[in-house]
Amino acid sequence: MRKKFTPHLISIVLKGFRNHQKALGLLILLGFLGGLLEGLGINALIPFLGLILDDAPHELGFLTNGLEQLFSFFNVSLTLQTLFFLISGLFIFKAVVLFIFHYISASITAEYERHERARMFKTILASNWLFLSQEKIGYLDKIITLDITNATQLLRSVSSLILTVTNLIIYSIIALSISPTLTFISLLGGAIFFLGFKPLFRKTSHVSRTFTQDNKRVAHFIGEALIGIKSIKARALPSHILKRCELLFEDLKQARIKLYIYSSLGSIVAQPVIIIFILIVFSVVYRQPNFTFSVFAVSIYLIHRIFKYIEATQGKIQRISEYIPNLEQSLEYLKKAQDAEESIQGTRPFKFEKFFEFKNVGFSYQDVQPILSTLSFQVQQGEIIGIIGPSGSGKTTLVDILLRFIQPTTGTITIDGTPINEVDLAVWRKRVGYVPQEMFLLNDTIAENIRFFDDSVDVTAIEQAAKMAYVNEFTNKLPQGLDTPVGEHGVNLSMGQRQRIILARALARRPEILILDEATSALDNESEERIQDCLNHLKGTVTIIMVAHRLSTITGADKIIAIAEGRILEVGSPEQLRQNPNSYFSKMHSI
Ligand code: ADP
Ligand code: MG
Repeated sequence: MRKKFTPHLISIVLKGFRNHQKALGLLILLGFLGGLLEGLGINALIPFLGLILDDAPHELGFLTNGLEQLFSFFNVSLTLQTLFFLISGLFIFKAVVLFIFHYISASITAEYERHERARMFKTILASNWLFLSQEKIGYLDKIITLDITNATQLLRSVSSLILTVTNLIIYSIIALSISPTLTFISLLGGAIFFLGFKPLFRKTSHVSRTFTQDNKRVAHFIGEALIGIKSIKARALPSHILKRCELLFEDLKQARIKLYIYSSLGSIVAQPVIIIFILIVFSVVYRQPNFTFSVFAVSIYLIHRIFKYIEATQGKIQRISEYIPNLEQSLEYLKKAQDAEESIQGTRPFKFEKFFEFKNVGFSYQDVQPILSTLSFQVQQGEIIGIIGPSGSGKTTLVDILLRFIQPTTGTITIDGTPINEVDLAVWRKRVGYVPQEMFLLNDTIAENIRFFDDSVDVTAIEQAAKMAYVNEFTNKLPQGLDTPVGEHGVNLSMGQRQRIILARALARRPEILILDEATSALDNESEERIQDCLNHLKGTVTIIMVAHRLSTITGADKIIAIAEGRILEVGSPEQLRQNPNSYFSKMHSI
C-alpha cells in the first residue's frame, strides 16, 4: 500500500527525533523571535526611508503605527537618528538570536549523530547470535556512516526548515500590515509554486531509497571481495568481480544524477518566477494614487523575501525527502536489532565444582526438523571430553548451546545444579573459554591478539598464556617477539601459529571450561601436537570439551561422546569404545 507521503514524513521525523522534541520546540520559539525582530527592523525602514526620501506614506500599516505610538509613549521623537539606532539594534539583536538558534541546532544535531551511532553499535553488539550470524558484511558500516550521517542532515534540515517557516509566517504578517493585497497574491503565487513541486518530494524519496540500498550492496560486495581476495586472485577473477560492481556503480550514478537534478529544480524555476511576479506587481501598483516609493521598496523587498522563503521551504522539504529513507532504514535496522536482543542474561554467580549436565536437550532452527534431540550426558569438573561425529551431525550447534549463543528448544542444562541460563551471561562467557575453527585475528601485535580487547588481561597473563600455548616457541625467534604485528587476519603467520595465539587468547583469561571446536583440524601435525601438549598440562584443572575430526586429538580424553544426526550414538572412555569394533570411534581408528 502506498503510504500518504506527508503524514508518513511527519510521523517518521517525530519518531526519529523523539528525544529532541523539546529542543525543536525551543528552535521554533527562537525562529519566531528572530523573524519578529527582522520584521520589526524592516518595518522601521518605512519611516526611515520616508524621512530620507521625504515621501512619508499615507498608510503606515499597524506595525509602523504601533512603532510610532511606542515612540511617543516614551517621549522619543521619530528622527533619523533614533530610527537608525532602532533598526541597527533590532538587526544586531536578531543576529544574536540567530546565533543562539544555530548554536542549539548544531549542538542537537551533533549530539544526535553521536548518540545514534553509539546506540546503533551498542544495540548490534547486544543482539543475539542468530541475528548477528545473518548480518551482511558492510551493512552496519554503511548504516553507521552513511545512514546516520544523512539522518543527521535531515535533523539539520528540519531545524532550518523551522527557521524558514517561522520567518515566512512573521514576514507574511508584517507584509499583511503593509499591503494585504500584495501579500495575499504573493502567498497564493508561492503556494502554487510549492504545490507544483510536491510530486517531486515523493520521487526524490524513492530515488534516494534505491540509492541508499545500492550503496549498502556495494559495501557488502566490496567487503566480501576483500575477504576472499586470495581465492579471487588465484582464479584470475578480478575482472569478473569488477564487472558486477560496475553495474552497481552505474545504478548509483543514475540515481545520483536524478537526485542532483531534483534538488536544483526549485531554485532554477524560482528566479524567473519571482522576477516576473515583481514586474507584474510593479506595473499594477505604480499607477495607484497612494503610491509612495518607500512603501513600494519595502513591499518589493517583502514579496521577494516571501518568495525566497517559500522557495527555501521547498528546497528544505526536498532535502528532507532525500534523507528520509536513511532515517527510515536506520530506524528499521535498529528495531530489528532491538528485537533480537540477547534476552536471557542471568544473575547468579558461576560455580563449577562438581559437574554439568545436559538433560534431554534438543534444538531446532525455526521449528524445522530438529538439529539436536534428547541429548543427555554429564561432564565432571576437570575432565577432558571429546566430541566426535560426522560433518553436519550437530557438534557446533552443541558448542553454541554451551556458549549460550542459542537456547535449547527442549531440555535443561545445569551446572552444579543451577540452570546455566540463570548464571550471569558476561561471567559465563568469561569463565568459558572458546577456540573456534575459524581463526580470527586482529591486525595488531601478537600480544594484543592474546589480550583481545580484555583490559583485565595484563602483560604477565599474556606472557604466561603465550608460554602455555607454545606461542613463544616461534615468537622467541622474532626480533620483536610478542610485539610482532600479525598483519590483516594474521597473514604474516602460519595456520599453526595463528591457532596457538588464539588458544593463548582463551587461556589468558584463565577459563574454567575450555571449548575447542575443531580447533586443530586445519593444523599440521607438529602444531597439533603442541596444542595437545598444552591441553594435557591443563588436565584436571580446566574442564575441556574438544570437538574433533581426527582421532589423535582425542585419544587423551576421559570420555568420548559420538553424535550422529543430532543424537548421541555412543558415550565412553576411549578404551571402552575401542573394545567395540563396530563403534564409530573404532571405525574412525581404522580410517
Ligand atoms: P557440525 O558442527 O557437526 O558439522 P553443525 O552443528 O554446524 O554441524 O550443523 C548441524 C546442522 O545444522 C547442519 O545440518 C546445518 O545445516 C544446520 N545449521 C547450522 N546452522 C544453521 C542455521 N543458522 N540455520 C539453519 N540450519 C543450520
Ligand atoms: Mg562444526
